Amino acid sequence: MPTDFEIVFGRDFEVVFAPVFIWVMGVVGLIFGSFANVVIYRVPKGLSVVKPPSACVTCGTRLRAWELLPVISWLFLCGKCHACKAKISLRYSLVELLCGVLFATMAWYAPLWHWTRTDRLGYQTSFSVVPLAVWAFILITIASIDAETQLIPDGLVLTGAIAGLIFIAGGIIFPENFPSSRTWYDALLGVAAGAVPLFIIDRITLLVLKKDGFGYGDVKLMAMSGLFLGWRLMLVTFFIAFLLATLYIVFLAVRGRARRGIYMAFGPFLVAGTLVAFFLGENLFEMYFEILGGTP
Ligand SMILES: [Zn+2]
Repeated sequence: MPTDFEIVFGRDFEVVFAPVFIWVMGVVGLIFGSFANVVIYRVPKGLSVVKPPSACVTCGTRLRAWELLPVISWLFLCGKCHACKAKISLRYSLVELLCGVLFATMAWYAPLWHWTRTDRLGYQTSFSVVPLAVWAFILITIASIDAETQLIPDGLVLTGAIAGLIFIAGGIIFPENFPSSRTWYDALLGVAAGAVPLFIIDRITLLVLKKDGFGYGDVKLMAMSGLFLGWRLMLVTFFIAFLLATLYIVFLAVRGRARRGIYMAFGPFLVAGTLVAFFLGENLFEMYFEILGGTP
């Protein structure tokens, strides 16, 4: 029996509207990516992210409206400032693209409408995509700032944690509208699984080598992401992050650029691990147990 909703919209609803929503979120992501560049540039310097309006970092000429379009402006300007012809880093466009792709992927992962058996209409509006997109935005800005300054601003981690709490609270109060949310105890275990191992490694490094291992920024970052991931995916996150960091060190060593005592930002690896775990973690978990021949 088709539901009222299906009679009105038919199958077109899923076929047409879901891709439209994914594309719209991609464009929203590009715009937020543009804002992410402002955050990445200004937050470590303690500047306001709202005022003054964006300007060329070399000559200070204010950017006009058409120069603020994500990626497109960069292409039209051929990667050079309109006024002083200074090169505009490709990084800005890459951050915008990454934000666009992540927002679109979040829309695919947590679609705006989802099928439900209990509801008479058959569909429920899902709001999971809002906190998830905020989280993706925070992860991109933190990875970029940490790579550049070796600092993870508390304000960004706090914003992510608020989004995470909304994600979890939404799942408890409106389970139909937050279908991808985690249970409160899984979120709590996720926070512990994220923070405790890094904290212990940090303490041991401090005792044995008399220097900081991981900053507290990394500990807070992983505690925040634990809200979104739960404990199982947190294990996958650490596995991927340490694997990527090791590969990077080997790459540096091969290129003859690794030095003893060099400080390496771990945040970008943790963020990469987090995103891989979020989208592919359950599959990786299953593969792991299949290889071992057991059941999870
Ligand atoms: Zn300029």
